[in-house]
Amino acid sequence: MYLSDVLNIKGWHTVTTGKDVTITAAVKTMCDNHVGAIVVTGSKGMIAGILTERDILRRYAEHGAALGKMSVAEIMTRNVETTGPDARVEEVLGTMTRKRFRHMPVLRDGEFVGVVSIGDLVKAMLQEKTQEAESLRQYIVT
Ligand code: AMP
Repeated sequence: MYLSDVLNIKGWHTVTTGKDVTITAAVKTMCDNHVGAIVVTGSKGMIAGILTERDILRRYAEHGAALGKMSVAEIMTRNVETTGPDARVEEVLGTMTRKRFRHMPVLRDGEFVGVVSIGDLVKAMLQEKTQEAESLRQYIVT
């Protein structure tokens, strides 16, 4: 199974924010779009960073309420790992587990086309394995 299969079900949605946006505004965008991570775009729509719930929680512990007025650029992760729609689900789950993050932006021909979370991938794998088990059961019974 490939990331394109997961995105065909989940939808090829992208939620982005700018580097100069305040954390308060970015949190509102994340909540409005029901996402736990947001890709930060820079000049010409290039990916400049990623901001996740975990970043916000950690930085809140450091800065308290002042965090709300800080900019996205101040706390985002800059070296964003991305992948393509042709990557295999198992491979991406392995990368996420090894590198300890739960979101992966997907780029097609350099264009940002979607994000998969570890939850999306575990759900897709579980569905695939359940269907495989059911097919095998039918095969044995018939
Ligand atoms: P997460 O588990 O996705 O909430 O992220 C844990 C940490 O990794 C946070 O500091 C994120 O900004 C960062 N992070 C999340 N996704 C990626 C990614 N695809 N590439 C690089 N860093 C990431």
